[in-house]
Amino acid sequence: MSERAVLIEGGCVYPADTADTVIPRGSVLVVGDRIAAVGSAEQVQEAVTALDEDTRAGLEVLDARRMMVLPGFVNAHWHDMFAMGFPLRGALRPPTDRADEVGFFGGGGDMHTISRTFDSFDGLIAGLTADEAYAIARYSMWTQLRGGVTTIGDVGSLNRPPEMVRAATDLGLRFSATTWAGDAVCPPDSDRFQRTHDTDQVLAAVEDLLRHCASDTSGRIRCRPSIAYVTNMTDELGRGFAELTRRHDVGFATHVGAVRNEPDTLRRYYGTTGVRRLHDLGLLNDRLMAAHCAFVDDEEQKLLLDAGVHISHSPGKYGPAGESTLTESGVVPALRRAGLDVSLSTDGASLPNAGMAETMRAVWQMYNEMAASQIDVLPTDALAMATRLAARGLGWDAEIGSLEPGKQADLVLIRADDWRYLLNPRPLESFLWLGGSADVDTVMVAGDILLAGGQPVGVDYTELRDHYLDALAGFTTRCLRVPGDVVAGVLNGVPR
Ligand SMILES: [Zn+2]
Repeated sequence: MSERAVLIEGGCVYPADTADTVIPRGSVLVVGDRIAAVGSAEQVQEAVTALDEDTRAGLEVLDARRMMVLPGFVNAHWHDMFAMGFPLRGALRPPTDRADEVGFFGGGGDMHTISRTFDSFDGLIAGLTADEAYAIARYSMWTQLRGGVTTIGDVGSLNRPPEMVRAATDLGLRFSATTWAGDAVCPPDSDRFQRTHDTDQVLAAVEDLLRHCASDTSGRIRCRPSIAYVTNMTDELGRGFAELTRRHDVGFATHVGAVRNEPDTLRRYYGTTGVRRLHDLGLLNDRLMAAHCAFVDDEEQKLLLDAGVHISHSPGKYGPAGESTLTESGVVPALRRAGLDVSLSTDGASLPNAGMAETMRAVWQMYNEMAASQIDVLPTDALAMATRLAARGLGWDAEIGSLEPGKQADLVLIRADDWRYLLNPRPLESFLWLGGSADVDTVMVAGDILLAGGQPVGVDYTELRDHYLDALAGFTTRCLRVPGDVVAGVLNGVPR
């Protein structure tokens, strides 16, 4: 029986394999949903010749001679916050930025506001209708796809998980789902955490989602439990997650060591700091993805190294959010040099912000500046952190994360033939200098082309956007109580 076969021919191929190979005039052969061959154009042509006659007769050829061919980006720490597009550093701001003040992630972190804000999300999620949730998730995920992300790892979203799963499925993306989980806050007038949710109900919601995702037959949907933040987790919830992730044989993710003021707050309300808590509760192991993980002391760094924890961080986002995660502690680059897996992610915001391309640029520029060395993070290191290592952090690396025979055919094509690339034998370097998410030309997931020529395939962008804006308007007026005329005033100014 013949299978669909696609030859991506004659590009500069960066497989992001463990040898960090670069193939200047290379090709990739895709058969069905998998990669059949990767190598020089001549080597892959031999694999084409070896195809059975029917498959070869139907071979589609994608001319990549003016392109880079990269693995699909794996954004393993992301949040859908697009429901907050109006109030949360969004559309309600004045055009001028001159009166901006330090936000709650800035200045070392306003822990009470962070804790209370995160705790309020459940009520807001409950206010979303299924249709609004779907429309918001589909648009939010589309912006990821547009920037070359083929796999999204949710670490808690202001959205409804089943509708997010449906949106990812309809777009054709890979998606690791989770719930927005927390059961306590740190109130300013007390030294005791205050319980806000029933722990068993929080855990039951995750089990429901695990079961829901287990019924997926596409191979593109998984579930990785997470908590919103260690400040909003009782010991009981932490132990519950440790037991649940063992029983279901899945990884776990959380934010920890995110801001300077976090350790003192955790000592005050829970008796000890974040990484120690995760260790004591049975959550510190090689299947933990710790997001940010910068404000941890020497003993905690040793715990992280001993456990082989995976760190996901988001250098494209820290400065614009007021976070000092890289330079203030220097811990994440040090842990990477000491051998921990460190991958890249975008984190979340209520409007489109730095994508994976911009995040790769940030790690290349910032780490090297911090190390006074241009080889601390090479462009191919940045690529591995956005692809192969991120897939490992999600526990999905047997299937995705690099271009190698047998793996799923998730890849992106980026044009590399204009003035930015003239004379440079290293197109990835030019891309980090001068390229970005908007330069992604083609996206393939499991052999399916989801984006071609920068345009969605099988999705009407205008319908996608208008459905999102209508859903956002409904949610913003009804649940966030922004006056309807204010919302309408903003939306009337959107060119359509
Ligand atoms: Zn995050």
